[in-house]
Amino acid sequence: MTTPDSHAQIQVYQQDPADLKAWIKTQALELGFADCVIAKPDAQAELARLQEYLDRGYHGDMKFLEDNLEKRANPALLVPGTRSIICVRMDYLVEAPEPRYIPYAPNSAIIARYARGRDYHKIMRGRLKTLATKIRAKVGDFESRPFADSAPIFEKSLAESAGMGWTGKHTLLIHKKSGSFFVLGELFTSLDLPFDAPASKHCGSCTACIDICPTQAIVEPYMLDARRCIAYLTIEYKGVIPEDLRRGIGNRVFGCDDCQLICPWNSFAQVTSVEDFHPRHSLDQVSLLDLWQWDEATFLSATEGSPMRRTGYQSFMRNIAIGMGNAPFDEQIVRALHQQRAHHDEIVQVHIDWALQEQLAKSS
Ligand code: SF4
Ligand code: SF4
Repeated sequence: MTTPDSHAQIQVYQQDPADLKAWIKTQALELGFADCVIAKPDAQAELARLQEYLDRGYHGDMKFLEDNLEKRANPALLVPGTRSIICVRMDYLVEAPEPRYIPYAPNSAIIARYARGRDYHKIMRGRLKTLATKIRAKVGDFESRPFADSAPIFEKSLAESAGMGWTGKHTLLIHKKSGSFFVLGELFTSLDLPFDAPASKHCGSCTACIDICPTQAIVEPYMLDARRCIAYLTIEYKGVIPEDLRRGIGNRVFGCDDCQLICPWNSFAQVTSVEDFHPRHSLDQVSLLDLWQWDEATFLSATEGSPMRRTGYQSFMRNIAIGMGNAPFDEQIVRALHQQRAHHDEIVQVHIDWALQEQLAKSS
């Protein structure tokens, strides 16, 4: 909490807030963040777009997006007293990106790159807390609260308003010098810091992400129908996946990186310095059949501390069944689908039956 003494310290120090801002950025980079910008706590401009997205029903079952619109637009309603937001970025690629999209071997299981290692939320919040502690040691007490995808916040919009990048036509944030393979975090503060300026946009006439999307989820530039997006379908959505989207899902069993992989700006994507993003359990080169053998106990132990926990065992098996249906005909796959059918719930069984039909149709 702020004390009269510490308040005085802040006042003294903030006679040169530009210096304090530069110092904070240096500390953030030293803590391992790849970038740090200071945003004004105001995301009103994003509200109309979200409202249109909600009106069109593109959020599917993500009903939480309908709530707390005022808090999203005005971060000071979420954390009273917020005067500036320190936005940070952590890159998550563990190796240099391919220069262009290269399809995977058909029987491999593709897991989105951010999810192959440990969940980043804990390390993000931990580092933000450390940053707050360092600032406190320099300027005295002030109010602060760290977030990592954990509250109704327009994360991208705030970071964009302060030059962390621009929103691409695939709706993700891109930076000219570092691409889009990164996650965001925020430290809400009561400090009066000078705000950074927005970056210019550089999608131009490119439509590569729209054209490559396997399920045509980017329905128009800058507008994504989550109900068609493989990331939503394989992670957030728990029901029966519409049949007309199953072939497009291919062998992507948790998330999808295709619109990022094709983006020319990702030839500038940076490799991470965060050990937690490194793949565990060979999740960067695992086969569909290997994952299909996982029972629930194996799933729970292999996904401990991993973002993959989020989807749950049965939904994960549903996704793998779709991948197996999309694989070239293979007697081993047909046998494995039959063998495991009785061990799964009705929703998974719907996808197993579809996968068997798809396999048998390719057998002749
Ligand atoms: S994540 Fe995949 S499915 Fe979703 S918009 Fe990008 S390319 Fe399309
Ligand atoms: S692929 Fe092209 S249109 Fe899509 S985000 Fe990248 S630059 Fe923009």
